[in-house]
Amino acid sequence: MAEKRRILLIYTGGTIGMIKDHETGSLRPFDFDKLVEQIPALKKFDLDIISAQLSRVMDSSNMSPAYWKEMVELIEQNYDSVDGFVILHGTDTMSYTASALSFMMEGLQKPVILTGSQLPIETIRTDGKENLITALEVAAAHHDGRAVVPEVAIYFEYSLMRGNRTTKFSAEHFDAFISPNYPELAVAGVHIDYHDYAIDQDRATPLMFRKTIVDEVGVLKLFPGIRKESVEAILQHSAHRGIVMESFGSGNAPTDKWFIDCLKEAISQGKTILNITQCPSGRVTHGRYETSESLEGIGVVSGQDMTFEAGLTKLMYVLSKADDPQEIKRLLIKDLRGELSPE
Ligand code: ASP
Repeated sequence: MAEKRRILLIYTGGTIGMIKDHETGSLRPFDFDKLVEQIPALKKFDLDIISAQLSRVMDSSNMSPAYWKEMVELIEQNYDSVDGFVILHGTDTMSYTASALSFMMEGLQKPVILTGSQLPIETIRTDGKENLITALEVAAAHHDGRAVVPEVAIYFEYSLMRGNRTTKFSAEHFDAFISPNYPELAVAGVHIDYHDYAIDQDRATPLMFRKTIVDEVGVLKLFPGIRKESVEAILQHSAHRGIVMESFGSGNAPTDKWFIDCLKEAISQGKTILNITQCPSGRVTHGRYETSESLEGIGVVSGQDMTFEAGLTKLMYVLSKADDPQEIKRLLIKDLRGELSPE
């Protein structure tokens, strides 16, 4: 008889494992063992499921790089003894975690599937049971001795997506995530239909776990009427070595001299400015409009078609590896983990 596939289920919190506090009426995370009690089907699965819990079980609004490091450590410690990983995570910051983990683990050959739910597992109409059960199946899926999905991915509401291509799109609907610039990796119906053309099977770099990721980043979201003082406050803050600039449309920004001078000043101080569009889909193309023409020339880095979550966490990751602005730019514009499609 073939040996059972072994999966490590990492519980971090999120709605999936929450209960209603009787006094306040608000949702708070509860213990993993209670979660398993709610899904007796887990025991019937033809899988050997082992579990681990983060040092703090949380609403994912409390997620931070320190916990990403903990997750990477758990994966590294168990990498050789399991076939795949499922991470139970709150939906609010799941795309950030999936993006960060994709950068922190290079040359991954085993699935790391994040999932959660919009309704707690103890609720009759919960979406959590299907999400968890299919995520486990995806994490265990093998073909010709290889994992079918050797990637960090999010499984949610019948759809498997590359993690660093996702964004949370709905606070209400069960299909809470979208992958606006990249096809789904699989769709689950009666069968799980894997889209092999979209799955990254051949990233032949050696396996490496990178446990440092810095938080010296800021975000400059543009809007009509933004004031010079606000722009300066973000660009000049000493805690910010890198700034994600959320621009309009295909990467456009005001052409006012004061604004361009503020960007130039920050770049001359060795800071990196990464341009990501505010549009949920599409890409930054410097020079397509007059309003983005000068950006490339002064040294703003194009985020191409990266999501905000991928751009921000990639900047955190790249700043932890490099100091030289040219090297930082080289890594940012390069496709490292399938997070961007060059033009
Ligand atoms: N606030 C929750 C969280 O992200 C929402 C969820 O899990 O859906 O932890």
